[in-house]
Amino acid sequence: MKIRTLSARTALLLLALGAPTSAAADTEGTSKTEATQKLEAKSLELRRELVQVTPRVFTAVGFSPGNVSVIVGKTGLVVVDTGMSPSHAKEVLDAFRTISSLPVEAIIYTHGHGDHTGGASAFAEGAKPQVWARSGLNAEGRAFASAGLTINQLRGARQGGFRLPDEKRINNGVALPFRPDHADPFGGEASGFVEPTHTFDEQRREIQVAGIEIHLVAAPGETSDGLYLWFPADRVVFTGDNFYRSWPNLYPIRGAPYRDVQAWAASIDRMLAENPEHVVPGHTRPLLGRDAAREALTAYRDAIHYVFDETIKGMNAGLSPDQLAHEIQVPAELRKHDFLAAYYGHPAWGVRSIFSGYLGWFDGNATNLFPLSPAGEARRIAQLVGGPDALRQAARQALAAGDAQWAAQLADHLLALDEASAAAMEIKADAFEVLAENLLTATGRNYYLTQADELRRAAKSQAGAVGTIHVDSAAPPQGRP
Ligand SMILES: [Zn+2]
Repeated sequence: MKIRTLSARTALLLLALGAPTSAAADTEGTSKTEATQKLEAKSLELRRELVQVTPRVFTAVGFSPGNVSVIVGKTGLVVVDTGMSPSHAKEVLDAFRTISSLPVEAIIYTHGHGDHTGGASAFAEGAKPQVWARSGLNAEGRAFASAGLTINQLRGARQGGFRLPDEKRINNGVALPFRPDHADPFGGEASGFVEPTHTFDEQRREIQVAGIEIHLVAAPGETSDGLYLWFPADRVVFTGDNFYRSWPNLYPIRGAPYRDVQAWAASIDRMLAENPEHVVPGHTRPLLGRDAAREALTAYRDAIHYVFDETIKGMNAGLSPDQLAHEIQVPAELRKHDFLAAYYGHPAWGVRSIFSGYLGWFDGNATNLFPLSPAGEARRIAQLVGGPDALRQAARQALAAGDAQWAAQLADHLLALDEASAAAMEIKADAFEVLAENLLTATGRNYYLTQADELRRAAKSQAGAVGTIHVDSAAPPQGRP
């Protein structure tokens, strides 16, 4: 794996430190990391297109972060998920209107996330379609709101890259880099949300609508309110977010309650048991054909099982989340599938989530029952290396040597000693930019780059410099059609 093309700032730093210059030989802009190239290539797959799945099933990919599908029934249309906003949904409806002029008779929400429910009003205009969901829709978003929790919105914006300028965004791993038109696209209810008119509690509800039969099947996984839709006549399964072409986001770094990993695998198993011929994911392009469908769902289920089983085994052996996150590696026969590459979720985050999902925050090592405060630890570390100046020098050396993670950790000690240290903020921002460019996982990459921008702004205001700031951290995300 290549280290990123060095910025002018880092190159100067290397020269100043007398570091070997071979690492700085790349010219700015001429070489991209493997991770950057692979993520850029993903954008092609995420392109906007109305994909025909069967003669009466179509999926709009790339019109909105989430897919919107339509089943053309005998008397009307069944719309599966609605995109993030009414403006996106209107464009999808226009595309559907090139296929059929039948009225929308039903809308199905596969789960309560805003990128799947926020466009509903556009499909409900001028008619009163049935709106179906499992009971308890968006329990996660409601729980955050009732706790008064708001930090999830800032973390969500970092994960989504919503505050980054366009040139720093590639895609979101499973979607093109849209910007939301409301503050909480993951949990909040957008203007276009329409309350369900029909909900169900049982495992499977078979309904007749628009002259066709569809099955709505409870499928907890990415969310507890998830369902998959089975259209038996055409043998199509609409998976919601329990499947997309990326390593599953078993834990979102914006923060979320435990996603039941075992239930997730079991939900995929139930989809497999339907023996589908086509798979329509919640994001990314449909998989067409029985072999592709079976191969993808089987490998996805097996990958989730693998991480779960290995984590539980390690936990029983007394290993900590830090150890397990480093030690558990997805086997090569699963890694060979591009739909299991870590574009969106990351296996290590899943491992940590399984640990804390079952055992909570305590890693089992009594050292960590009452650890030193961050400032207390930093004071001792600084003492050990010969004072804060030596610590700063060590952080810069780590950065110059390409050990960006260590540089970030040392910068955290410096900031624990002096939270206003502009030098430490700059070191940490430099480190995050290196880490970002070497990470395939778009959510983590966006998070690094957003925090790097936040640090640079803070450093600038500490240094009292006057400069233009391209994005105001207090401003809401910019809307975009
Ligand atoms: Zn989604």
